[in-house]
Amino acid sequence: MSEIKVLPENIANKIAAGEVVDRPGSVVKELVENSIDAEANHITVVIEQAGKELIQVIDDGIGINETDVELAFQRHATSKIVNIQDLDRIITLGFRGEALPSIASVSRVEVKTCAKGEQVGTSLKINGGVIEKKEKTAFKQGTTISVKNLFFNTPGRRNFLRTDTTEFNRILKWLKRFFLAYPEIHFSLIHNGDELYNLPPVSQDERISQIFGQKFYDGLVYIREELNDITLEGYVCRPDQTRGNTDNQFIYLNRRTIVNRSLAHAVFQGYGNLIERSQYPQFMMFLHIPPRLVDINVHPTKMEVRFANERVIYHLFLSAVRKAIQSKQIIPEFKMKPTQASQKEIENQFQNLGKPTKRDFGFGALQGSDNEEESSQISFAYDSLPKKRKDSEDKGRADIQNGTYQANLWQVHSRYIVSQIKSGLVIIDQHVAHERILYEQILEYLQSGKKVPSQQLLFPHNMDLALEDYLIYSDIKEWLGKIGFVINELSGRTINIEAIPADVKVGNEGKVLIEILDFYRRNEGGEYEPHEKIAAAFSCKNAIKSGEKLTLEAMNALVDQLFRTKEPYFCPHGRPVVVTLDLEELDRKFKRI
Ligand code: ADP
Ligand code: MG
Repeated sequence: MSEIKVLPENIANKIAAGEVVDRPGSVVKELVENSIDAEANHITVVIEQAGKELIQVIDDGIGINETDVELAFQRHATSKIVNIQDLDRIITLGFRGEALPSIASVSRVEVKTCAKGEQVGTSLKINGGVIEKKEKTAFKQGTTISVKNLFFNTPGRRNFLRTDTTEFNRILKWLKRFFLAYPEIHFSLIHNGDELYNLPPVSQDERISQIFGQKFYDGLVYIREELNDITLEGYVCRPDQTRGNTDNQFIYLNRRTIVNRSLAHAVFQGYGNLIERSQYPQFMMFLHIPPRLVDINVHPTKMEVRFANERVIYHLFLSAVRKAIQSKQIIPEFKMKPTQASQKEIENQFQNLGKPTKRDFGFGALQGSDNEEESSQISFAYDSLPKKRKDSEDKGRADIQNGTYQANLWQVHSRYIVSQIKSGLVIIDQHVAHERILYEQILEYLQSGKKVPSQQLLFPHNMDLALEDYLIYSDIKEWLGKIGFVINELSGRTINIEAIPADVKVGNEGKVLIEILDFYRRNEGGEYEPHEKIAAAFSCKNAIKSGEKLTLEAMNALVDQLFRTKEPYFCPHGRPVVVTLDLEELDRKFKRI
């Protein structure tokens, strides 16, 4: 082994960069934090190619003195703390002096800055951590930092970057966190020349609707809870406004984004059992706590923090949410005027009267079950018969005529189907079983190049997509078309749904589409092909739910079709569909053998 040497600073910085800047999103985060610490009123973020080509942050903050510009790019150089005691009273977002040297070591950086009260500004160019040029320049007060060719000198890391959509979504995720916590700051975002956000200063409430829309805001409940010198303030969604992912969960500690599973869990707990499985509440929680009661210096990106007494904070979250959920605030507004959706539903019922429904569990199976009562008692009529009128006599006769009547199926807890087989018992999970059936059918359609049948909407449905949803939508719209959606793009991020897959219940199209986009995003980067992901998303969202009562004939059809699939034993996500219990095993349990 050779001698021990202290690494030259630019190599040390490159190594440190691995901790603070791992992708364009983290560069954006660090630069915007610096602008906020510099008390900027207006921050503009300019991105080219998801940050792979350019990340530029323009602010009108206090700027950097000419004598300090180079220093800012040295390791552990910071203007934010001076001594060890300061670590216990940090009120700025940064304090370690690591971000700028780390960023500069893996990119080409140009800084232009002019400090408050100075007449002339400074411009500095750094290439892979090496200072190339420094000169005086005319500049307005503030700082503009441009980061080009990120990771040009660390190809390993550059190759590690994901698609533009994924990387840009990560940038957006960071920006949203800042947008929400700093409503008094004017933020602008420009990506590849398009202005995506322009958010003038507003109140906290208004900032939420600026970003997520008025409808989202209306689905929130305000909370506030105090304990000594700790305050928790925020918004949680009504129990019927949950989502299939945790994207819209924001927790701030003194306006710094933190990730804390336990506190997110406290919020979840606050809802009691009002939230369905695999749904997550949306919330933004602002915790204000004296800096001495928390250690933010425990994680490289400062996303994790250590509280002096985490249990107290947990209970503060829990009780705030619980109170809000029990208050009158959560009762949704009752609107007297019929909405377009309900008119649509009425219209649709007329449309479906007398229309035959199909016996099978594939496409069209759920058509016709448009009212609540029926969908909780799904029955599958035969091609030749008119729509079911819950006439049990008729049904019974049809069963026998068609020879599908089998007595050895039972539904337990509206969730599992139990049946006797030669070797013992099988237990089938009805939801995943149906998911498997739909999945294979859709795949078959997609692979054979055929289009899945669709149904025209009587009233096309306009939707404003959130930016992240829109990006995913743009990536997969071709596939959406193949599974039966007909969607027109209007201006901005507004889309117009004109037709939907035959299987989707009219009125549910918006929800199903969003769920597909969510599902797709959650599984991004996995080993599945796009068409497999679409098929999995669609079948999961459209399969009969656990909790739905099934008639005997429906169970028969389901079991029949399940065992005609290629892989009846596992659902597209790998969950088991069927569990067996051997007679021998039972005998052993009962000590017969
Ligand atoms: P830290 O934020 O932890 O202090 P950085 O490496 O991010 O470390 O920044 C180093 C220093 O450069 C900061 O302490 C600050 O003095 C200065 N600085 C960085 N960005 C800006 C900016 N946009 N406006 C004014 N000063 C800045
Ligand atoms: Mg910083």
